[in-house]
Amino acid sequence: MDLGIKGKTALVCAASKGLGRGCAEALAEAGVNLIINARGAEALEATAVFLRSQYGVTVTAVAADITTDAGRAAVLAAAPDVDILVTNAGGPPPGLWSDWSRDDFIKALDGNMLTPIALMQALMPGMIARKWGRVVNITSGSVKAPIPQLGLSNAARAGLTGFVAGTARQVAEHGVTINNLLPGIHDTDRAISLDGGVAKAQGIDIPAARKQREATIPARRYGTAAEFGAACAFLCSNKAGFIVGQNILLDGGAVNATI
Ligand code: NAP
Repeated sequence: MDLGIKGKTALVCAASKGLGRGCAEALAEAGVNLIINARGAEALEATAVFLRSQYGVTVTAVAADITTDAGRAAVLAAAPDVDILVTNAGGPPPGLWSDWSRDDFIKALDGNMLTPIALMQALMPGMIARKWGRVVNITSGSVKAPIPQLGLSNAARAGLTGFVAGTARQVAEHGVTINNLLPGIHDTDRAISLDGGVAKAQGIDIPAARKQREATIPARRYGTAAEFGAACAFLCSNKAGFIVGQNILLDGGAVNATI
């Protein structure tokens, strides 16, 4: 399928590895020029080199912490006028509801709610002026079904989801869509580190923890970054202009709900 976005420009945040990288790769495959970001310069540059050589698109890499004002300023200086924005950042750490301080909450809100909102505020006016734009926020399946030990994530992502629900309906008339992609368990460093947490808590080894978590997914496996990226590229495509303000689960059926 021709996604109809060849030659457009996208900013994909937190994209040197994992789901962000999967999105960047699927957009590059569709002929989209990229600005990609992550904190670690080495892995980011390696991803940029791969995307350029594999897909022949232009790729600008900006090593910065997207959750800080200075980091966002550096990224936005390299991406002042993009057609497509994919927001992403690392998720907050697991823990217990009674242990988190105000500072822990502020950090989670900064990373997973206020950063994507700031990026939308910076980049959507240009999209509106050009009458075309796509925003995809990488959130979490925890928006639909809370993960008890990830209370910081449950809280921050619920806030972003509420903001998107209203805002998507305000910008749609200008040809700009905002949607959220909700990953269930995917085979990335993040999932491996959460496997480690389960293993430690239960006194089992990491492969056993993974088996246990795979058993909770009807597909009986973790998702892949490539599958996630393909869904993202479709939402960013010219074909997806009527999909507005949706929260789309990619979880192998893990959330047990009829709708
Ligand atoms: P990952 O494999 O750990 O990759 C994270 C990527 O984000 C890396 O490129 C990392 O590079 C970059 N990054 C992290 N913090 C950043 C920051 N502050 N500024 C800029 N770049 C940053 O994670 P993932 O599995 O792809 O997860 C992506 C998001 O989806 C996370 O918010 C996660 O909580 C959520 N999620 C993941 C799953 C899953 O199963 N994988 C499930 C539900 C939700 P640097 O470290 O070099 O910055």
